[in-house]
Amino acid sequence: MTSIPTTEQAVRDGGARHILPLSGGKDSTALAVYMLRRFPDTRFELVFSDTGAELPETYQYLARFEAILGVPIIRVTALDLLGVRAKAGRTPFDVVLHEHYGGFLPSPQARWCTRMLKIKPFERYVGADPAYSYLGIRADERRSGYLPGRKPVLISDRPNILPVYPFKDARIGLAEVKALLEESGLGLPPYYEWRTRSGCYFCFYQQIGEWQGLKEHHPELFERAKAYEKAENGRTYTWVDGRSLTDVEKLARRHEIPSAEDLDGCAICHL
Ligand code: SF4
Repeated sequence: MTSIPTTEQAVRDGGARHILPLSGGKDSTALAVYMLRRFPDTRFELVFSDTGAELPETYQYLARFEAILGVPIIRVTALDLLGVRAKAGRTPFDVVLHEHYGGFLPSPQARWCTRMLKIKPFERYVGADPAYSYLGIRADERRSGYLPGRKPVLISDRPNILPVYPFKDARIGLAEVKALLEESGLGLPPYYEWRTRSGCYFCFYQQIGEWQGLKEHHPELFERAKAYEKAENGRTYTWVDGRSLTDVEKLARRHEIPSAEDLDGCAICHL
């Protein structure tokens, strides 16, 4: 990868597209607020890769973003990528799971979901045009994958898509991110009351306390997540390593929800 451009260098480049990928999480949303305000003359494209399995709160939050900021969000899915028509009751995740991975659920070791449902639809949308992708990695990140000296977090390693880190450039941390969201009228996404990160309702990065939160807040989604664990091709898959969601719901103790700042996960889905 060529050297990482600064925010000022990137926004001044009139020959490239300027993409703000949104995950529905606080950092990417705050970055979009920040960039739209700070650089009103730059034509940003806001892009959300929809797995079809996001939390209802995420869809509502993105709709509120559009209403408050007055900017449309472009939604892309793996269905566009695969040339498959949308059908009621079948999400992009379902299509990829059954038609490409034989019911083999994704996991931290086999994270095909991010590649197929988030990255590839995004790359298809950008195409071969020169583009900057502005990423909401904060200046105060202390998670191992985000620290100096590590490979920088990218949404795509295609040479025509250059990453830019405006929060790092401007030394913006968590307090400023929260303030940006409060001042905009959006506030934090409401699921942060019981879950640490954006992403699919069944995300395997969830901790036990978050699964318990899913059951409390969205019992129907918890049941749907359980249904994916049925045996397929002679194998049983589980979202949580070593135990099924039926085991999780039998736990007597309510587990704490850890701080997102201490958890590694998927920087693309969880920003
Ligand atoms: S949120 Fe989790 S399950 Fe969904 S695509 Fe990202 S890593 Fe995969």
